[in-house]
Amino acid sequence: MIPPGSTIGIVGGGQLGRMLSVAAAQLGYRTHILDPHEHPPAADVAAFVTRAEYDDIVALREFGGKVAIATYEFENLPVAALDVLGAKLLPSTRSLAIAQDRGREKAFIEGTGARVTPWRTVSSLDDVQNAVAELGTPLVLKTRRYGYDGKGQAWIREAGGAATAWKTIGEEPAVAEAAVDFVAEFSVIVARWEDGRHAFWDSPENEHGEGILRRSTVPCSGGVAPQVAKAQEAALRIAEALGHVGVLTVEFFASRDGPLVNEIAPRVHNSGHWTIEGAVTSQFEQHIRAICGLPPGITGLTRGGAVMDNLIGEDVQRWPELVAERGAHLHIYGKGEPRPGRKMGHVTRVVR
Ligand code: AMP
Repeated sequence: MIPPGSTIGIVGGGQLGRMLSVAAAQLGYRTHILDPHEHPPAADVAAFVTRAEYDDIVALREFGGKVAIATYEFENLPVAALDVLGAKLLPSTRSLAIAQDRGREKAFIEGTGARVTPWRTVSSLDDVQNAVAELGTPLVLKTRRYGYDGKGQAWIREAGGAATAWKTIGEEPAVAEAAVDFVAEFSVIVARWEDGRHAFWDSPENEHGEGILRRSTVPCSGGVAPQVAKAQEAALRIAEALGHVGVLTVEFFASRDGPLVNEIAPRVHNSGHWTIEGAVTSQFEQHIRAICGLPPGITGLTRGGAVMDNLIGEDVQRWPELVAERGAHLHIYGKGEPRPGRKMGHVTRVVR
């Protein structure tokens, strides 16, 4: 067990690192952020900050020497460099390596018995055309690496659109996925301990716009609820197969014939931000508990449910109205410039 008073390293200093740091501080830990940016959002609330590139082995080794345990808050990190943190890093680089490559990820998910939409790996225009011939249209191309919030994606609506889509994603190695005619989207957020203990939260139903999460709602609607038990089983099998320690998020499509995995995130997730006020133990506190070997916290709802809305780009300018709204929990990430598509904050309304 890593006792309170110890320092927890967090690779990445975005809003997830910031909310992890706040949760860690409440339990008496200090956090040490490693991030290449000048003033990342988590730096406001962390005890120590190292400014270094993620592949700076010397800095990572020094960072590893100063922390009792380390974790990461996003997945586009160089696995070989993070390996220098060894057993101090939880979840391990295995979760990272699989989650950061959409091809490996899908094959791995299928290997655990969970279902995904029909897909192919593609690395040339010929491959894309073959995928169109085999899977039909519509089809979405997603780069295998470095995609997030709908970036690195292009839709092929009819066979003639293959070349344009292949250009749009930069002719990078990608996966081609058949379009899912989904009823809704939802996620399963699970925390897992080294000894196999685990805890789920209520599954949020997620609404996206332009590939970015806009709103998460618990409890989910009647269209999703009957699929949650099967999705939780699948998420737990994935967590076990990864040997994952900490929070793991699995995003699902509720399709007409059951849950299909969209993607996994080996970390706390935007669709779990509602847990800060809407659940007895938040995803951030639970992640700290799991990686430090503390007992699991209760994950039940504090009230009847919660709705979390992201504040994207200029949305954050609404803060005077939101901060004055009774019962609205406003979170601002301290990012400065509100660029289009940038997650600037969120607001959670707990419902009775
Ligand atoms: P992703 O970055 O893979 O999570 O994709 C972002 C969003 O695009 C998803 O949350 C869906 O709303 C939509 N999307 C992605 N893949 C598909 C698909 N195969 N079929 C239908 N919609 C999709």
